[in-house]
Amino acid sequence: MLDTKVWRRMLGVCDRTIIEQVEFDEDKDAVVAHVRPKRPRSQHCGRCGRRAPGYDQGDGRRRWRALDVGELPTWLEADAPRVDCPKHGPTVIQMPWARHGAGHTRAFDDTVAWLAVHTSKTAIAQLLRIAWATVGAIVNRVVVEARSAVDPFDGLQRVGIDEISYTRGQRYLTVVVDHDSGRLVWMAKGLGKKVLESFFDLLGQERSARIRLVSCDAQPWIGDTVRARCPNATVCLDAFHLVKWVTEALDEVRRQTWNEARRAGMTTHARDLKGARYALWKNPENLTDNQRNKLAWVERINQKLYRAYLLKEQFRAIIAVKGERALAMLKQWLAWAARSRIEVFVKLGRRLRQNLAGIQAALSHELSNALVESTNTKIRLLMRIAYGFKDPEHLIALALLDRGGYCPALPGRSGR
Ligand SMILES: [Zn+2]
Repeated sequence: MLDTKVWRRMLGVCDRTIIEQVEFDEDKDAVVAHVRPKRPRSQHCGRCGRRAPGYDQGDGRRRWRALDVGELPTWLEADAPRVDCPKHGPTVIQMPWARHGAGHTRAFDDTVAWLAVHTSKTAIAQLLRIAWATVGAIVNRVVVEARSAVDPFDGLQRVGIDEISYTRGQRYLTVVVDHDSGRLVWMAKGLGKKVLESFFDLLGQERSARIRLVSCDAQPWIGDTVRARCPNATVCLDAFHLVKWVTEALDEVRRQTWNEARRAGMTTHARDLKGARYALWKNPENLTDNQRNKLAWVERINQKLYRAYLLKEQFRAIIAVKGERALAMLKQWLAWAARSRIEVFVKLGRRLRQNLAGIQAALSHELSNALVESTNTKIRLLMRIAYGFKDPEHLIALALLDRGGYCPALPGRSGR
């Protein structure tokens, strides 16, 4: 038999695991390693790690899926006796090679979690010979353990709160990001006051009082909850959402213009307007030549729509400038919108005025607009990837794994 040291590395177990014997199971075409925890470890509760008196033999011998050895599926096999934990009652002992309640080894779990943020669903399922739903469960236990080992809310001062819709139904997730670390810190099913309050309950009074700034969209339930729970926080509106309002207003003007043209029987004109959609949406620096021509056409043919376009672009410029100058520009912009004779923008101007305090806070605090936006985009993508997970909590775990900084290192790469 090979040296124990080599076997430990091949099986991905630490030196608290004793390898008794390694055999080849002809029937299963697999490697089976018989193992046991090193002595002092054999009397600890699997949940809390506390020492406890022995209870019984549990369900006898058990197997854990380990990483393949070469091309062979590999299993660890061991007794799984129980201790009588003062806190948890009869519980299977702590196994150094696996997380409590897991059917896979730690090295296997960590590899799955790493792959889940680095590669495709099909690649993981084929490479590791596991069902996609199992990946969800594994990711969940990796994240739960990683979060319990640290304070996930440590040092929170400036946060962004957002809600994201998923599936075509009315399902939502509430999302909290840390503007300073750039990380996703919390996520939960649903939206509304109750959901957000559960976040502040977790955070507790003391840490809530240390929150200085909260960025969000203009939903009253967010602002109200934050003001009630964070006495020292300024509530500011996310620039990302503001730009979205303005873009939506522009699109509304384009739709109206298109409808008018159609009703007047100007079909070619209407079709060209429809084609102008992307030219109007895109940032000028990203326009193709064709789109640039389209925009020049809009300028010649439809002054109202072109003014709406300029209003959108000017607003984007304000958001990009930030600071004192942006505040002065915003004042001019609001005056411009008010006398634009474009009803949609007159209305938008009123809406912005109603939220002026939050917008001014956003412009003077130099918050990154990109963070909320990219988290939003990434979570939507992760939702598609997580399709097939059995529990929505597993989707949340995948998002935290990827955006929260909980992705483990590959086994054997962290200097062990
Ligand atoms: Zn316990």
